[in-house]
Amino acid sequence: LDQRDGWIWFDGQLVPWKEAKIHVLTHGLHYGSSVFEGERAYGGQIFKSTQHSERLKRSAQILDFEIPYTVAEIDAAKRLVLEKNGLTDAYLRPIAWRGSEMLAVAAQQNKIHLAIACWEWPSYFDQAQKMKGIRLDIAQYRRPDPATAPSTAKAAGLYMICTISKHQAEKKGYADAMMLDWQGRVAECTGANIFFIRDGVVHTPIADCFLDGITRQTVIELAKRRGLEVAERRIMPEELAGFSECFITGSAAEVTPVSEIGPYRFQPGAITKALMDDYSAEVQPKSKAA
Ligand code: PMP
Repeated sequence: LDQRDGWIWFDGQLVPWKEAKIHVLTHGLHYGSSVFEGERAYGGQIFKSTQHSERLKRSAQILDFEIPYTVAEIDAAKRLVLEKNGLTDAYLRPIAWRGSEMLAVAAQQNKIHLAIACWEWPSYFDQAQKMKGIRLDIAQYRRPDPATAPSTAKAAGLYMICTISKHQAEKKGYADAMMLDWQGRVAECTGANIFFIRDGVVHTPIADCFLDGITRQTVIELAKRRGLEVAERRIMPEELAGFSECFITGSAAEVTPVSEIGPYRFQPGAITKALMDDYSAEVQPKSKAA
């Protein structure tokens, strides 16, 4: 990924892709002082760009640093890098971190950096294939207690247990892993939120110790717009046997049906399909009023 041609927005400049480098003594690398975003552009428009930029700023503040750009400046930088790379349908990855002036746990004077990369990552259009659903493992690690980790920040450090869990799942032939929370309730996947359907009602865990995804919020709104009841509640893993459909949501995953979680089986059905269609329609670029 680091050997491509293209441009990366780096501390206010557009730099050639291969030259967007940092020093090995970067605080963000040693101590996890790094926050990021994952978002998509559809037809040249970044879906909910401002919400993502706001979350990036907020994630940094939770980690006790301030990104030296405003939300409007971050939004503009994302549009600029997308345009410079000649992309209209792409994934964007803004990342902010503490620099390399000092290497110790405390590094209050270190410079705060911001970089934004983007690359082509088409959304999965083959609906029939997608409706077969993906298979999920149940992760060994749990989402931490919010008293233990800054669980509402999209912080790089929180992804350590996600990478381990996803690797373990992949080694067993699964696409991803569902994680429980510190209390043993269903939480989310390693990079996406999770939803279940039973008797026409949409169920999803309360986002009290994991990311309340922008896609999660969008899908809840879309379900309500369809007149569906949405129950945000505590879901125990034993309950999975009673759900008929399951899907995961995320900026990258969009709405992806699930067919299997450990011993539990689901049949992606009409509600999942309807919400996939609604989401595809929702992300389409809004025509600019003349
Ligand atoms: N949970 C985790 C751990 C994630 O990495 C993501 C992807 N950012 C999500 C949930 C979904 O968030 P969003 O819908 O805002 O992309």
